[in-house]
Amino acid sequence: VIDRRARSQELFEAHGTQIAAQTDRVFAFLLFAEWVFSIVCAFVVSPRAWQGTSSSVHIHVFASILLGAMLAIPAIAMAIHRPGTIQSRVVIAIAQASFSALLIHATGGRIETHFHVFGSLAFLAFYRDVRILVLASGIIALDHFVRGMWWPQSVFGLAVVSPWRWLEHAGWVVFEDVFLIWSCLRSRAEMRAVADRQAELEAVNESIENVVKERTAELAKARDEAINAARVKTEFLANMSHEIRTPMNGVLGFVQLLRSSRLDSAQAEYVKTIQESGETLLTILNDILDLSKIEAGKLDLERIPFRPKDVVEGAVRLFAASAKQKGLALTAETRGLGHCSVLGDPTRLRQILLNLIGNAIKFTEQGEVSIECKATALPNDRIELVLRVRDTGVGIAPEVQSQLFQPFRQADGSTTRRFGGSGLGLAISGRLAARMSGTIELVSAAGVGSTFSLKMPLDRAPPAIDSPETSPTPLQRQESEFSPGVNSTPPRQGARILVAEDNPVNQRLMIAMLRRLGHTPDVAPDGESAVRACLEKEYDLVLMDVHMPVLDGLEATRQLRALRTAESHRLPIIALTAHAMASHRAECLAAGMDDYITKPIAAGDLERALTRFVPDPAAARS
Ligand code: ADP
Repeated sequence: VIDRRARSQELFEAHGTQIAAQTDRVFAFLLFAEWVFSIVCAFVVSPRAWQGTSSSVHIHVFASILLGAMLAIPAIAMAIHRPGTIQSRVVIAIAQASFSALLIHATGGRIETHFHVFGSLAFLAFYRDVRILVLASGIIALDHFVRGMWWPQSVFGLAVVSPWRWLEHAGWVVFEDVFLIWSCLRSRAEMRAVADRQAELEAVNESIENVVKERTAELAKARDEAINAARVKTEFLANMSHEIRTPMNGVLGFVQLLRSSRLDSAQAEYVKTIQESGETLLTILNDILDLSKIEAGKLDLERIPFRPKDVVEGAVRLFAASAKQKGLALTAETRGLGHCSVLGDPTRLRQILLNLIGNAIKFTEQGEVSIECKATALPNDRIELVLRVRDTGVGIAPEVQSQLFQPFRQADGSTTRRFGGSGLGLAISGRLAARMSGTIELVSAAGVGSTFSLKMPLDRAPPAIDSPETSPTPLQRQESEFSPGVNSTPPRQGARILVAEDNPVNQRLMIAMLRRLGHTPDVAPDGESAVRACLEKEYDLVLMDVHMPVLDGLEATRQLRALRTAESHRLPIIALTAHAMASHRAECLAAGMDDYITKPIAAGDLERALTRFVPDPAAARS
């Protein structure tokens, strides 16, 4: 409240000062004009006094010039240099009132000139300052009184006047003053009201602004908390799924072993269910891990040359069996892609495609699933890849279509029960596509079928890789290397194998798997012990975990390669890696490893690697 009153006073004073400064300016011009006018009057109305043959300028002219200058100059100077101050106002009021006196004198006390007094007072009322009116009126009254007493001609134009004549004049001045003062007071009251209102408006504004500021701060805090909570959730999911994955790999590995042992039919059924559930759980964990990585912006994409045609054909091959089992026709028309080669992340492209084809098969009971491919040229040596997965399945109602790309969203509860799934696949695919500047569009009608179209701009790979004669792309290598056709000789029994692996469960799993295949494995818990073991004993093969304490798998391999280069027998080293990325595999190969198996290790992969690297010499000869 006090603030508001002070602010009102401040505004009131500022307004007063502004009006006073404007009035000062008006008076600066007026005083100058009056000075000139008084000089003209002195020349015209008070003519030269003739004294014999000599003539001189009348004393009134000098009085007008000198006195006028004395009055006008200080007042004008004050108006210019100190506008709006009480001092300027006082000096100007004195000058203006005195000008009335000077002009009355210069016109020989003409009664008409007395009107100047009323004009002056009216002008001075512009200041809205009663004190100034009183001051000017006082000066005028005093002037009339003094000159009326001793020099009545100069003020009343008569040589003899009544000593009370000045009072009559003063009376009319007072009469005018009453109205002027009333007007000043009214103006000031209005100014005060305006200032009050303005102060109040400002106060209300300020309080609104404060409320807005408070709310904004609250919202910002809530937003930060939400972001933080989302981050914590993402981190938690990422950590948990990573942590759960490791024991899950152990579970699945041993279940695999268990399935190959002697079991009665009920036990075999139980174990099969455990394995299937474990695999489903692992898929969900991998999806959560992927999604949290994408949401945390921690998903690294590769940029390597690959042929989209290989990716599509590889993905389709994977589903051939399941489509056949459901009695669905699965077709892929890849001619539109030719042999064009692009730069990008084939693993992630494949992941999207696997999800779309997997869904198409999952949600289609009869009919077909077809994949159409197209590559259209874009400027700057780029192409737009369009992959369309069309099915004749249950279709998706329009109202839920847009939600399917949100995590954990499924078309409806009943399909969830009927078909299973976590609702993460499309969320991941959509985000992956977006990360690669692509889009996934959906056209679907319930009961008719769905078409998912993946569109993605990609850079063309340098032409050297484009020709079919050159070395296969990493993906092709990845797909062909473990194919049984590479080396059909069965693996040797009793090979000496070193397993370099720090995780005890994985150690036991590898030993069990290798023993089952008829080999005699040793275990080294870290890279350094692995190198030492290879120096002490001759091995036929090393299975090398990449992430190990003391010395990691890559460094251990480099050291082993440095030691053994001269020998004719090159010890095969196979990486065990959790990363599926081609760049990671390339790193393993660059360190001197011969191959890699991705974790969780499938018995089939291990067997194929052994077949290739420890062939049975006897069988090979025959
Ligand atoms: P999930 O398949 O694990 O449920 P997705 O994110 O891959 O998760 O799919 C989300 C939902 O979208 C599915 O549950 C299903 O309702 C719907 N959907 C996806 N693809 C198809 C399709 N081809 N036909 C019909 N519905 C589909």
